[in-house]
Amino acid sequence: MSVISMVDVELAGKRVLIREDLNVPVADGKVSSDARIRAALPTIRAALAANAAVMLVSHLGRPTEGQPEEKYSLQPVADRLTELLEIDVALVSNWIDGVDISPGSVVLLENVRFLAGEKACDEALSRKMAALCDVFVMDAFGTAHRAQASTYGIAEYAPIACAGPLLVAELAALAKALTNPAKPIVAIVGGSKVSTKLTVLDALADIVDSLIVGGGIANTFIAAAGYGVGNSLYEADMLDIARGLAEKKEGRADIPLPSDVIVADEFSADSEARHKPVEAVSADELILDIGPDTAAQFAKILAGAGTIIWNGPVGVFEFDQFGDGTRVIAEAIANSDAFSVAGGGDTLAAIDKYGVADRISYISTGGGAFLEFVEGKKLPAVEMLERRAAG
Ligand code: ADP
Ligand code: MG
Repeated sequence: MSVISMVDVELAGKRVLIREDLNVPVADGKVSSDARIRAALPTIRAALAANAAVMLVSHLGRPTEGQPEEKYSLQPVADRLTELLEIDVALVSNWIDGVDISPGSVVLLENVRFLAGEKACDEALSRKMAALCDVFVMDAFGTAHRAQASTYGIAEYAPIACAGPLLVAELAALAKALTNPAKPIVAIVGGSKVSTKLTVLDALADIVDSLIVGGGIANTFIAAAGYGVGNSLYEADMLDIARGLAEKKEGRADIPLPSDVIVADEFSADSEARHKPVEAVSADELILDIGPDTAAQFAKILAGAGTIIWNGPVGVFEFDQFGDGTRVIAEAIANSDAFSVAGGGDTLAAIDKYGVADRISYISTGGGAFLEFVEGKKLPAVEMLERRAAG
């Protein structure tokens, strides 16, 4: 089934509401990695060039619904958009009952997760959002796996619902990457929690040849193998599941365990990094990165890959002393001849930090959606666009 594409819709003089994924890292009131904002620019420029009255909607972080909080405000994003687009992008705080805007201009609507009912895809809220526009454009691939008011409900009730150029491009590129992938296929799944990436790990274990785990996820596998992980981030209730995944079975991916790690006494920007064999972590230490031997071993696996799928940093790369594992992985992917796809908010930040963006075959703006696509799942927001296209 296909979707209506924004480029085929008449936008002149129309009120166009675009669901973007502008969920970017913010530090000290400033956007610290603007990759997702830059990815959204061509769509916004196209709508403005068509003389549409443009409203941008996005979430940022995980605020408690119905409780607006300064630290989750999109103001830093509005500031960055103003710089990048070189036109004033005002932030509209109270928008659900109506937005005052004229053709050829653009506003950013405040964090959609401040509205009660967004996540539950409340029908009344969805209808109110839909009433704001003539055309709804879904361009947030990164949220397409969630059936929420601003990704799914609004598409059901808007007069016209279509896919933006970024969404169209992402769906096409990923489909291309994952149809008949060159072997061996290596996936790297890092980040903080097994629980949030469990179905992905399970599905990838069936698809890929080697499944490299890192970060808090690796800590859970290390604990599952019987080693102490001290005060590390890990999930005690996921140990059996990790054991099941790690079990060697015919047709299932090999999951190599880190042999050495980088530990510290506390989770902080200035804590001292120490190198240890994986079996020597003491009760009061935290594992914050994979060690150099492990990184070199993983790099070797990546060098031999035909296809690489990357989501999740393998350490706390935000702190330089715990970033070497992620840097070595990023460079190994960049140096490999494999077709490589990467996705995830923090993964994008790591790609930026280590300057490898132009040597990765395709960088998806999505995290969870990227992974669900990789798993072969249908994305609900895309299904809704297909339904609307079918009439
Ligand atoms: P992505 O956004 O790319 O999907 P995640 O959000 O799952 O990635 O995870 C990224 C976060 O995981 C980073 O903020 C990083 O600091 C954290 N992380 C990585 N390794 C560890 C670790 N060993 N202990 C605690 N946090 C970790
Ligand atoms: Mg993240």
